[in-house]
Amino acid sequence: METEKKMRGYMIENHGGVESLSLQELNAPIPQKGEVRVKLKTMALNHLDLWVRRGVPGHRFPLPLIPGCDGAGVIESTGTDVSESLIGTEIILSPGFSCGECSACQANEDPLCDGYGILGETRHGTCAEYVVVKTAQCLPKPKNISWEEAAAFPLSALTAASMLQKCRLRQGETLLVIAGTSGVGSMAIQIGKKLGARVIATASTAEKRDVAENMGADHTIDPEPENWWKTVKTLTEGRGADVIFENVGQATWDQSLLALARGGRLTTCGATTGSLVEVELKRLFFKNQQLIGSTMGSRTLLIDTLEYLEKGHLKPHIDSIHPLENLPTAHARMENRSSIGKIVITL
Ligand code: ZN
Repeated sequence: METEKKMRGYMIENHGGVESLSLQELNAPIPQKGEVRVKLKTMALNHLDLWVRRGVPGHRFPLPLIPGCDGAGVIESTGTDVSESLIGTEIILSPGFSCGECSACQANEDPLCDGYGILGETRHGTCAEYVVVKTAQCLPKPKNISWEEAAAFPLSALTAASMLQKCRLRQGETLLVIAGTSGVGSMAIQIGKKLGARVIATASTAEKRDVAENMGADHTIDPEPENWWKTVKTLTEGRGADVIFENVGQATWDQSLLALARGGRLTTCGATTGSLVEVELKRLFFKNQQLIGSTMGSRTLLIDTLEYLEKGHLKPHIDSIHPLENLPTAHARMENRSSIGKIVITL
């Protein structure tokens, strides 16, 4: 049975700047039926953490809330109906959770489940020493993966894999990854190469372009000029990219659409620069193009993606590693776009 335990963790009480992240002594959560408590070793930041901290107009987060979607650690105690033999298991957390029973869940469409939620967004997350999760969220940590890589992997890899799956990216096609050194962008480059695509990535500095090329991008483009989409056309003999991986939004949208080939698919999972965009419908239908929105992905796909990680086909690019008490600095680093790859917090 569970005893009272204290932990250090960040609780967001009101939305705002980094000052709204306050490190507190909290009661460690107690696992209920079908749940386990995980002692976290590492967590990693995602753009979602910034949205949760700042707030999103028209959306209500369940404050006060411990933020943080990604994490890895060791199962430390179990709720009822869960075997105590799990205690001591090293795990990577699946950030998303769902009912596991409805037709969406049965069809491996977990994000369409009415009960779908994400750690650190709809329930307490990983910016604390302990987190309580459903047992289905605990995936075995491959032995050859570091704790830092384990935390840096799930949300971005799952998001990227799900987007490319929805776009049916095929061998020999050209994939254009916008913001190739973002967490999801770097995963998209690597998964794209693994699927046999030719990969073009945009990255805003020479340093970021080097990183994108080291991750496997065949070509990199500076997205600053007004007409970078023409470079995509030149690189594809005038065709354009078959699949475009968007996660930036307003700032790159118009040029992304201009760079899309006939029969091309553009998928988006993010709008860090703004979410109101225009679409020239005549171009969209005459060119038989598709726009595909995506968020997260199924637990099954995450398990498949973890296999890529274990075999070394995917490697998270880690920007920096910070202790828990430096979470506000780490948030600021992501917010001002100084990071290249994933920011990891050790607990
Ligand atoms: Zn469900």
